[in-house]
Amino acid sequence: MARYTKAVCRLCRREGRKLFLKGAKCYSGKCTFEKKPHSPGQHGNESGRRGRRPHKPSDYALQLREKQKARRIFGTLERQFRRYVHSALRARGISGEELLRRLELRLDNVVFRGGLAASRAQARQLVRHRHFMVNGRTVDIPSYRCKVGDVVQVREKSRTKPPIVEAAGIGPRSTLTWLESNPERLMVTVRDLPPREEMEGAIDEQVIVEYYSR
Ligand code: SF4
Repeated sequence: MARYTKAVCRLCRREGRKLFLKGAKCYSGKCTFEKKPHSPGQHGNESGRRGRRPHKPSDYALQLREKQKARRIFGTLERQFRRYVHSALRARGISGEELLRRLELRLDNVVFRGGLAASRAQARQLVRHRHFMVNGRTVDIPSYRCKVGDVVQVREKSRTKPPIVEAAGIGPRSTLTWLESNPERLMVTVRDLPPREEMEGAIDEQVIVEYYSR
């Protein structure tokens, strides 16, 4: 599957905020965005020049940026993201929230949010390498949509493997009410559907829905 393979810190700089894509580095003083908080590229720092009028982005540009930010945070490609949007638009409830809920319930996100990986990218790789089980069965599909009651657990054979031991130690500890995290047993249980206040806060989901409703 095609995927983004260039420097991910550029994505944070492009979106103008930390997206926490690199695991331990994001939580340290080495974060690239903290050193260079302007857009990447030759003209990235030009808005800071004296005498230059600030550029006012169009509505379309704002919608596009919001969509790109969400896509980058959750590490999905355009076609897959569009599928999430169309599924959310068909669902009952508020479309924007339904979209975020679908993204939050991805297996790689549950692994990350449950504190078993340092970043979503790392969670995705660990899932792909068959280190996780859902309800006792190995699942190697990062986009697998978890359901209420699902138990996500590191496979017995993988428990002592260095990437798992290191990842489980670095990731942020979950304080979410919809996830029950058990770091000792390397296990996360999906207790409930994620409420909006516990979903990714940096995204304005309504703007994304407007982008796809043009
Ligand atoms: Fe973004 Fe993390 Fe890189 Fe900082 S270290 S710019 S938060 S990916």
